[in-house]
Amino acid sequence: MEKTSTDTLPLTMISSEEQETVCIFGTGDFGRSLGLKMIQCGYSIVFGSRNPRMSSLLPSGAEVLGYGEAAQKSDIIIMAIHREHYELLPALTEVLRGKILIDVSNNLKMHQYPESNAEYLAQLVPGAHVVKAFNTISAWALQSGALDASRQVFVCGNDSKAKQRVMDIVRTLGLTPLDQGSLTAASEIENYPLQLFPMWKLPFYLSAFLCGFFFVYCVIRDVIYPYVYEKKDSTFRMAVSIPNRVFPIAALMLLSLVYLPGVIAAVLQLYRGTKYRRFPGWLDRWMLCRKQLGLLALGFAFLHVIYTLLIPIRYYVRWRLENRTISQAISKKENPFSTTSAWLSDSYLSLGILGFFFFVLLGITSLPSVSNTVNWREFRFVQSKLGYLTLILCTAHTLIYGGKKFLNPSTLRWYLPSAYVLALIIPCTVLVAKFILILPCVDKTLTRIRQGWERNSKSSKSALNGKTDI
Ligand code: NAP
Repeated sequence: MEKTSTDTLPLTMISSEEQETVCIFGTGDFGRSLGLKMIQCGYSIVFGSRNPRMSSLLPSGAEVLGYGEAAQKSDIIIMAIHREHYELLPALTEVLRGKILIDVSNNLKMHQYPESNAEYLAQLVPGAHVVKAFNTISAWALQSGALDASRQVFVCGNDSKAKQRVMDIVRTLGLTPLDQGSLTAASEIENYPLQLFPMWKLPFYLSAFLCGFFFVYCVIRDVIYPYVYEKKDSTFRMAVSIPNRVFPIAALMLLSLVYLPGVIAAVLQLYRGTKYRRFPGWLDRWMLCRKQLGLLALGFAFLHVIYTLLIPIRYYVRWRLENRTISQAISKKENPFSTTSAWLSDSYLSLGILGFFFFVLLGITSLPSVSNTVNWREFRFVQSKLGYLTLILCTAHTLIYGGKKFLNPSTLRWYLPSAYVLALIIPCTVLVAKFILILPCVDKTLTRIRQGWERNSKSSKSALNGKTDI
């Protein structure tokens, strides 16, 4: 029968009598927080310190020794010290030989050093098995139970057994280990805590640009123009009317920008006749932030809904309605019922409600907790088919908004068309292009290319020649 050792047992299975001892180098903020958490989860902790003395800050039950003595107590050592202080380690090379060193360190800047901290540690202590982990978990999150912070712990290392033991510790602490491969992944993992919404930058700047541009555009048309020609003060429109034009425009344009890169990619693949050539960098970056573009678009759609619900309680709207009723009563004139206007108004509202419903559905399915429960086909169905349906409904909603006045020259102000007309350019382009791409003759070629067929490859040419020979 094979002998069972604690090396091969998952740590969760270790009974309280055989508590595993883990050594933590450094009694700073992170070392203390991690030590406390590990003691709570059943580990026995030995701290390595320059000044080994028990302080009230250290978790009770832990032992504090000098670095060398502490290292002898365990075969797993967590380096809760900054990279700048790793110079104390070469003196401990012998005692650290064959042990697992967990590098938790972060830097102040991205790419601060030529090599990652973990690789540097591996160079300093060549006989040890270095594993990178825990750097994305903060001391604060460990103390507060990590309930309101990310629970993901990215783990990488060259020794798979060492990595597995570290992942077991991570699980025992109630966190989620994510295996990132070999130690070369450490530099990327070390950059994670330094990133500031990397995927949100482009969508955020784009939204800010769209909102700024259309706000100014609407101010020119709806505030400055009436002032110049009629000396009318319409500045109050900047509070509700204009934002309620800008937000739906931003929502529709951002939603269409979610689908535009897919269309451009398809056209490029058709043009090149292969899928094996890289897309330009800007298209890659654009594709990667489609989810964020869509979520921002949904946010603007929400704002549009809220502003629209406010319309009946606006002073200006009530004033206009009352005045119109009074002037009609004085002039004894009735406003005849127009079935066309009723149809346009009801269709406009209905398309808007349906578009918003599918928009919310798209947003919900993009949440990791939901997307994890659907398979790839279901996810694609929702994000692609329902996504296009949402785009169609929202575009139709905007087209009908123009109603009888759509593209009427009388709506031009200083030759400027209404803002919603400009907003329709990209969505209509995307929808027309998509329609062309799903035509059977085009779709067939695109599908073949996506399955690996190449127009200019030798095999496809010979296959073609073979066909012509026959
Ligand atoms: P800290 O509070 O400054 O503690 C660092 C510890 O390093 C000191 O308490 C000290 O412990 C030890 N040390 C060894 N040689 C030293 C020297 N020459 N000068 C000063 N200290 C020396 O830092 P920390 O916040 O705990 O961070 C420790 C490591 O964890 C860092 O690599 C950091 O990037 C990483 N980290 C921290 C957090 C966090 O939220 N704080 C999160 C993720 C990762 P002794 O006095 O006992 O020797």
